Amino acid sequence: MTPDARVYAYSAVLMGSPILLKLFEHNEGLASRVFRLIKQQENIFTVNRHDSEVMAVNHAAGSHAVVVSQPVFNLIRCAKTVSESPDSSFNFTIGPLVKRWKIGFSGNSVPDSDDLRALLPLTHSHDVVLDESTRSVFLQKAGMEIDLGAIAKGYIADVVRDFLKQEKVENALINLGGNVQTLGAGGEGGWAIGLKTPFSAPDALIGVINVNGKSVVTSGIYERYFECDGRRYHHILDPKTGYPLDNELFSVTVISDDSIDGDIYTTLLYGMGVEKSLRYLRDIPDIEAIFVTKDQQVIFSSQRQFSFTLLDNAFRPVY
Ligand code: AMP
Ligand code: MG
Repeated sequence: MTPDARVYAYSAVLMGSPILLKLFEHNEGLASRVFRLIKQQENIFTVNRHDSEVMAVNHAAGSHAVVVSQPVFNLIRCAKTVSESPDSSFNFTIGPLVKRWKIGFSGNSVPDSDDLRALLPLTHSHDVVLDESTRSVFLQKAGMEIDLGAIAKGYIADVVRDFLKQEKVENALINLGGNVQTLGAGGEGGWAIGLKTPFSAPDALIGVINVNGKSVVTSGIYERYFECDGRRYHHILDPKTGYPLDNELFSVTVISDDSIDGDIYTTLLYGMGVEKSLRYLRDIPDIEAIFVTKDQQVIFSSQRQFSFTLLDNAFRPVY
């Protein structure tokens, strides 16, 4: 894994995350166009500012339908379908709970259980009405809020990949704060993407995943969390209870062609836990997952589209 001298890295902070672009040529102009594209996308989808296309929908909750652009409509339709799949713990109407916890933002606190219970009725994805003919979105209850945080980075990573392809770039890697998409092999052995050691130094790795033209997305409970009275509260919430999802997992990594699938499945599989996920993935050969458990196992659903090198022997690979 010697660093490739031909690789040029460009970085920025966007969407509240460090963004890294790797190219096989020195091309600052292209890098700035990529960062501009990401910024444009962020401006459309963010719910962390007062104004965006998605916030326009949220502001109109309980009042009226809002016409949105085709990409926003498509992403909302996709998020609604995933949210309504059987036993899904993915819920794109989780906004009121996310805003109440403020995990990863200043002012976070453990809400009263009564507060959380009162917010749950505002998190039903069936109360989102989509009208294809007018491309409009209506949140039927006042106080409802869409949050695309579990899907938007994946979608944007694919937008960047498609843009680079269009620019005839053959080898590139874009990392949107843990959401990686790649073009080409990036050198001998494929692009190397680190699997982080949970709650350790930022550069501590359990191992390295090598891919060629695939997406690698990780959802982990160490990404955003806070501690209160000796307990850790992380950012993936259980839509049934309103509390952080609690199971045997530190993280789920998904390897797939499209990063939007990786982003959706990491959140879905996190909610399912290891056993159920492994059964579920048997029927979906294009989606492969790596589970890191709290008892230090690294469990692979299958390994067709990537190779893995273990670096930290405190973890035990299970194939
Ligand atoms: P990810 O980084 O893909 O795991 O997504 C986490 C982000 O998605 C959080 O920061 C929230 O904005 C949002 N979120 C939290 N819990 C859920 C959930 N159960 N379903 C969908 N989105 C969620
Ligand atoms: Mg996700």
